[in-house]
Amino acid sequence: MDDSLYVTGSDIKNCIYCERVVYFSKVMRIQPVLWSQHADSVMEHKVEERNEERRVSTPLPNVRGKHFNYRITSERLMASAVIDCVLEDGYGRLVPVEYKGMRSKAGKAYSDHKYQIAFYAILLEDVCRKACVEGYIHYTDALVRVYITDGMKMYVRRLMSRIRRMVEDETLPPIRVSRRKCNGGCGYRYICYGY
Ligand code: SF4
Repeated sequence: MDDSLYVTGSDIKNCIYCERVVYFSKVMRIQPVLWSQHADSVMEHKVEERNEERRVSTPLPNVRGKHFNYRITSERLMASAVIDCVLEDGYGRLVPVEYKGMRSKAGKAYSDHKYQIAFYAILLEDVCRKACVEGYIHYTDALVRVYITDGMKMYVRRLMSRIRRMVEDETLPPIRVSRRKCNGGCGYRYICYGY
């Protein structure tokens, strides 16, 4: 089985930002060229993650369990992820937590991050057979709670199919994002625009 057909949380996040990022990373397997600010952000993420291993500050009452760097794969869904942290609440439900080395969108979550959490919920429910109805995104300035709706899960499932089709067809998607998003943060501007 071609492992590129397995969809990951990063694929979902990237696909919402720009489908071409998924094409370059997954189909062409080209490494992104990240500008230093982004590289710094990745480093901050790692530091923050390590700090959080000592203190997970969610408003969840009665946390029964905490699992860091939780590796999960569903053969059935052909999807896999390494989730920064998975909590088990007092009702036995699973709650994914994602750490971002960046500020929130004025106290709210960015939509690509929300759907990444919804993707984790789909995986956790499929593999662990436990409900997953909310998650948290830990930004540097805010802890944002995300309610995971059926509509979000349905949207993520559609994205998963679209990503798999893209890998099978190997067709470069057209540029659908605004030029504002092509600021170099994706790491593939040098291919799309040649600089
Ligand atoms: S430069 Fe723009 S169009 Fe190209 S991959 Fe990056 S975000 Fe997408």
